[in-house]
Amino acid sequence: MSTTWHILGAGSLGTLWATRLARAGLPVRLILRDQARLQAYQAAGGLTLVEQGQASLHAVPGELADSPGPITRLLVACKAYDAEQAVSQLLPRLAADAELILLQNGLGSQDAVAARAPQARCIYASSTEGAFREGDWRVVFAGHGYTWLGDASHPTAPFWLDDLSASGIPHEWSADILTRLWRKLALNCAINPLTVLHGCRNGGLLEHHCEVAMLCLELTELLQRCGQPAAAEDLQHEVERVIQATAANYSSMYQDVANRRRTEISYLLGYACSVASRHRLSLPNLERLQRRLVEHLQQRGLPSD
Ligand code: NAP
Repeated sequence: MSTTWHILGAGSLGTLWATRLARAGLPVRLILRDQARLQAYQAAGGLTLVEQGQASLHAVPGELADSPGPITRLLVACKAYDAEQAVSQLLPRLAADAELILLQNGLGSQDAVAARAPQARCIYASSTEGAFREGDWRVVFAGHGYTWLGDASHPTAPFWLDDLSASGIPHEWSADILTRLWRKLALNCAINPLTVLHGCRNGGLLEHHCEVAMLCLELTELLQRCGQPAAAEDLQHEVERVIQATAANYSSMYQDVANRRRTEISYLLGYACSVASRHRLSLPNLERLQRRLVEHLQQRGLPSD
């Protein structure tokens, strides 16, 4: 009998994982925010995944944080700013050998969750898959990609990676997951805030080459200082490559601001700035970028943390 996959958060990535695992015949349960969300979910009859224009409905059972029964495997699919609190509610249900898979972008939320649940094994993930919510309980699979998973303190791969293979979830066990997360964070810091401040698609940053280059220099210094030299390697070229390759796209932070949603700034640029200050590293361009972004969000009445 397979271990149940509990999925915390029925948003874009939570739905993308839950529907593919359920489709492969694996036991999956969704943990929803509150009674009202559970009722709305049950009324909808399940999760809908839209792939290449084809919609499929998956009647994954839903429950609440205080539902009975232990949790052995938990996929945390909330935003970074919700993860710690959402996992805290589940602590009484976590089995002694519980494993948590953390899908959050950026850094900071994973350590906060791990500190809350010290008995659990925390596996960090970094994903290039793309999905968005078309409506409640309905998610569009927008971009095929890959998910890297790893555990910085324990290099052995978990046996349940077979479940991901059976579900068609492209993945790889990574011995250097922190390097991957730092690299992605640095790319995000060099691109996303500027697209918000200049109000442009990623390609619009081709006109702000110097500003991007200055940020890359400082981010490289930061990565080297905090023991991530591999994440620093050739950062500027990679940033330029990503800007070219995604020129027509709006960054996730741009979309959050345009849709008046809270951003994950504290786990991206905010995290980079706080690590720099912990290392007494002066990075004036990065700090100025953070001040401008915070001001921009506050002027629009959006949370700046
Ligand atoms: P999302 O669509 O906003 O989904 C987050 C879900 O978490 C929402 O359904 C929300 O519930 C739920 N939630 C929050 N607190 C909860 C609680 N206490 N109990 C139960 N559910 C709770 O976010 P997302 O786009 O999937 O992103 C999740 C993470 O993955 C982020 O860190 C993001 O940066 C990262 N990521 C996303 C993508 C992507 O393509 N979407 C790609 C790579 C990485 P409600 O529905 O009730 O609000």
